[in-house]
Amino acid sequence: GYDLQEQEQARKRWKGNHDSRTVADHYNARPNTDREARRDSPIIGLKKFNNWIKSVLIAKFGRREDARDQPRVRVLDLGCGKGGDLPKWAKAGTEEYVGVDIAAVSVEQARQRWQNMRGPRFPATFFTLDCFESSVEEILPPDSVMFPFDVVSMQFCMHYAFESEHKVRTLLENVTRYLRPGGVFVGTIPDAKNLFDHLDNNTEAEDPLAFGNAVYSVKFDAREWPSPYGHRYTFFLQDAVEEVPEYVVYWDNFVALAAEYHLSPRYCADFSSIFADEQEDAHFAQLLRRMNVMDAEGNAEMDEDQLDAAMLYLGFAFVKLDPEAGD
Ligand code: SAM
Repeated sequence: GYDLQEQEQARKRWKGNHDSRTVADHYNARPNTDREARRDSPIIGLKKFNNWIKSVLIAKFGRREDARDQPRVRVLDLGCGKGGDLPKWAKAGTEEYVGVDIAAVSVEQARQRWQNMRGPRFPATFFTLDCFESSVEEILPPDSVMFPFDVVSMQFCMHYAFESEHKVRTLLENVTRYLRPGGVFVGTIPDAKNLFDHLDNNTEAEDPLAFGNAVYSVKFDAREWPSPYGHRYTFFLQDAVEEVPEYVVYWDNFVALAAEYHLSPRYCADFSSIFADEQEDAHFAQLLRRMNVMDAEGNAEMDEDQLDAAMLYLGFAFVKLDPEAGD
């Protein structure tokens, strides 16, 4: 069990950045709800939709396209949380999985989830690490890594790094460190354009820096910010995220920075276009029904408010270029 006193002491000992502490404490404190309780969540439709999006992205980018005879992948999941994506990685034919998160309690829950997985399991290891402050070499020293990762995944996590350039560089270093050339970096983040569209269309609101509805709220510290880092807002999502500080991801700036780490953008699409485009695919359309995102008549399980919250995000993929090739 997790000792609250110990947590408090750790908090006092801890001298570094306040916000990443807030984030870890927040996720550590989230109960590990079982299936039953999750079904009662007021945002269950939204959660299912996010799971469908991640399944689609994992199916599109989380398997080897270049080696048909060797389709199994080695995955590094940064910000793995409670391991909610483990079944998706199993379906994608993962050969080995490494999960890392800053929240020790979540990491333990992810490990337990893996242990309780039915059917044949891929080998998996789990580590607690602040991926924006420390190097993955601390948990995976070079001589322990038998072969590089094919995929690095960061789901609903990367935006927390955009507090500072240093954190984003550390995360990029961690992404690229053991990613093989040709390997993929796939993730989901809030879509800055969407956030600002909401903010700017919110002329009726009492607070010109805030928007939201019954299930979520976003409140910016400021509309304009002099840097692509540290542009902070507070995010609240009913039954999931309580007032946690997040940072705007300025996409073009991120793409330019990622190039320094040999990461080249291959895909970037907001959730509403992923939803529109990918349900054209028969397999993904069937998955929408199987995952109960939509019923047989094509009605979404999400209400308007959940739909609005869901569509704030985007999915992306980068490919690692060969550093030796000079590209
Ligand atoms: N990827 C999981 C998923 O999609 O279900 C969890 C997403 S949750 C919204 C965000 C996760 O990012 C939390 O588990 C949190 O602890 C983790 N996180 C935040 N800052 C982190 C950091 N500096 N290093 C590692 N993980 C971090």
